[in-house]
Amino acid sequence: MVIFLNLKEELKKEPFKELNFEIPVKDLDLPENYIFSESEKIPVHLHLLKDKDGYIITISIDTSINMTCDRCLVEFPQKFAFSESVLFTKKLPKHSELSEEELLTEYLEDEEKFNLNEFVREEILVNTPMKVLCKEDCKGLCPFCGIDKNIESCDCERKYLREISPFSKLQGLLK
Ligand SMILES: [Zn+2]
Ligand SMILES: [Zn+2]
Repeated sequence: MVIFLNLKEELKKEPFKELNFEIPVKDLDLPENYIFSESEKIPVHLHLLKDKDGYIITISIDTSINMTCDRCLVEFPQKFAFSESVLFTKKLPKHSELSEEELLTEYLEDEEKFNLNEFVREEILVNTPMKVLCKEDCKGLCPFCGIDKNIESCDCERKYLREISPFSKLQGLLK
């Protein structure tokens, strides 16, 4: 289920507002390397602020979602802990304004129908590391025999390096 916020209505009486949500991860339409259970939810804290050009929405998330390590393919909880402020506006930013204010700006399609799921999805995606690793120094899988080099070790790489070495030809001749 997608949650739509009526920003106009929410900020009708007050200039700012804090809201808390529990968003089911399954409703975020995340790519398949994000692994979650049917009932898993993300706690989302929102701070809404009326601005002269639109709305400044600050999203804070502190959670973890299971992901597979890009190197060793093991499943592990990837931490997502961030807070980001975005100005949603119907006005196209002028270049001069952009340099003054270093606020992220996004186009606001409909202030009465703000798609919260889409916002959360995007924030999760941009806050996912380029390389998803179970630990910084993950050794990964051996490209030759496929063992997890964090757990076992093998001789494949050394053997391979020896084969492609210019001396290997000589070794063959000597045999
Ligand atoms: Zn790993
Ligand atoms: Zn190996």
